Amino acid sequence: MSETIFTKIINKEIPADIVYEDDLCLAFKDINPQAPIHLLIIPKKPIATINDIAEEDRELVGHLFLTAAKIAKDLGIAEDGYRAVMNCNKNGGQEVYHIHLHLLAGQRLGWPPFAS
Ligand code: 5GP
Repeated sequence: MSETIFTKIINKEIPADIVYEDDLCLAFKDINPQAPIHLLIIPKKPIATINDIAEEDRELVGHLFLTAAKIAKDLGIAEDGYRAVMNCNKNGGQEVYHIHLHLLAGQRLGWPPFAS
């Protein structure tokens, strides 16, 4: 797949407000936050969309959710709650083609999210 802005963030070629990093993933603040807390949790392995997740990525994708839960606990937002969501392709509102979990928190979030 072609390189995205997130590869540059992983390689520290452009700055980001990184809140967590390990061998498999990186979490940083969204540049255009949609909630008081809005983080992006991305695998270091570039995978374009949910449709491109392979069988071999099973543990990696699980790791993204475990990382979201760990960060939420560390930030003290686990009990109040949060949303962890991944957009896919045009109708899902995906803009960056390197899968990422949005971790949104800090307020009561609206549902359903059908606004265009
Ligand atoms: P998507 O629409 O693909 O699900 O979400 C992409 C997200 O990446 C958006 O919320 C957008 O604000 C964020 N984003 C795009 N470019 C950058 C960047 O260079 N730095 C950071 N921190 N976030 C970005």
